[in-house]
Amino acid sequence: MFDWLIVGAGFAGSVLAERLASQRGDKVLLIDRRPHIGGNAYDRYDDAGLLIHQYGPHIFHTNSEQIFDYLSQFTGWRPYEHRVLAEVDDQLLPIPINLDTINRLYGLNLTSDELDRWFAERAEPVEDIRTSEDVVVSRVGRELYEKFFRGYTRKQWGVDPSELDKSVTARVPTRTNRDDRYFGDEFQFMPAGGYTRMFERMLDHPNIRIMLQTDFAEIRNEIRYRRLIFTGPIDEYFGFRFGKLPYRSLQFRHVTLDKEWHQPVAVVNYPQERDYTRVTEYKHLTGQKHPRTSLTYEHPSDEGDPYYPVPRPENAARFKQYDALARETPDVWFVGRLATYRYYNMDQVVGQALSAFRRIENEVSGRAAR
Ligand code: FAD
Ligand code: UDP
Repeated sequence: MFDWLIVGAGFAGSVLAERLASQRGDKVLLIDRRPHIGGNAYDRYDDAGLLIHQYGPHIFHTNSEQIFDYLSQFTGWRPYEHRVLAEVDDQLLPIPINLDTINRLYGLNLTSDELDRWFAERAEPVEDIRTSEDVVVSRVGRELYEKFFRGYTRKQWGVDPSELDKSVTARVPTRTNRDDRYFGDEFQFMPAGGYTRMFERMLDHPNIRIMLQTDFAEIRNEIRYRRLIFTGPIDEYFGFRFGKLPYRSLQFRHVTLDKEWHQPVAVVNYPQERDYTRVTEYKHLTGQKHPRTSLTYEHPSDEGDPYYPVPRPENAARFKQYDALARETPDVWFVGRLATYRYYNMDQVVGQALSAFRRIENEVSGRAAR
């Protein structure tokens, strides 16, 4: 008899397994339908011996010291600040858009103050900023929106930015200085030995048993457990009874080249032609020295594993129905990006799992005392 069955060995499931086992002495069975732990953050050495991320580039960044300290129990860190270039009109330009992006794209020599005015002259006033189009055109105008955002977003999401919630493109700021870092967070690092190694350390506890290539549906009636934590898609858990929640997928094309370097930074975005959105070269992230280099091309798709919840009003409304059902389902906790239908980064999922643990402690211990 297990105290907990945890479905999904990504950040959400693994953090909770670790907390429940180490802080409460609970017995945990952690399952995943994939053949590995780590969820979408899983990394591995490919045939050439290069460390790659199986599900696309994962860069850790957070402003929370608590989350950083928590993960630091299981890994050392390699300082790394992420920089991204976008191929626009045959040039590689910094994205987020900054002073250098504009000066190089238009052959100008503006200062930061002048760029502020330059944006203001082009920005289209939008009274109520609701969509991913509104966010960008109201800040930098339509031309830059079309060059940097419209094509990328249509490829990535399969819908026009005017049909996506503002939170999607609002992830990417606009700057008038020369800061070319992708993230502004206080803590920006890569796990020194990789993500999978970090997960192995997190889950190395006698009270945690792991079963891979195991689907919840196969074992839900076979295994005895007291309580359940589900980190897969919430609509799947409830048999799609209110209809399917769309999750956007990607096909990852991994290649290794017989040369030392392919591109000047870890990620190059392709907002214009091409049927992929971005290309990642891992050695920039990992610091690995190697005479060859491995890359991943991301091709967005509707088919395949669920990776991204799609932030749109009708999906939020459907998620609310599932969420209401979840709240009425005793002894089951829904945690993580797929189960709570939130476009969360890794640190946010860790934060969500740590607060779920505190809630569980209150509820379960409270019930035991009654
Ligand atoms: P997941 O990692 O998806 O784990 C859920 C697990 O549950 C999966 O392994 C799945 O196989 C398993 N599962 C689901 N249903 C079942 C079932 N019925 N039975 C058994 N197992 C099941 N975040 C960042 O902070 N920085 C980044 O740079 C970054 N880059 C990203 C790039 C891409 C391409 C993607 C897709 C995401 C990126 N993220 C990034 C987000 C990050 O991947 C997520 O925040 C995090 O991995 C979510 O963890 P999770 O545990 O909620 O879900
Ligand atoms: N985006 C864009 N052009 C870019 C980079 C981002 O249009 O060059 C938009 C696009 O809609 C994307 C969103 O901003 O999905 C968020 O970008 P981010 O890099 O955060 O995406 P993620 O790493 O989560 O895939």
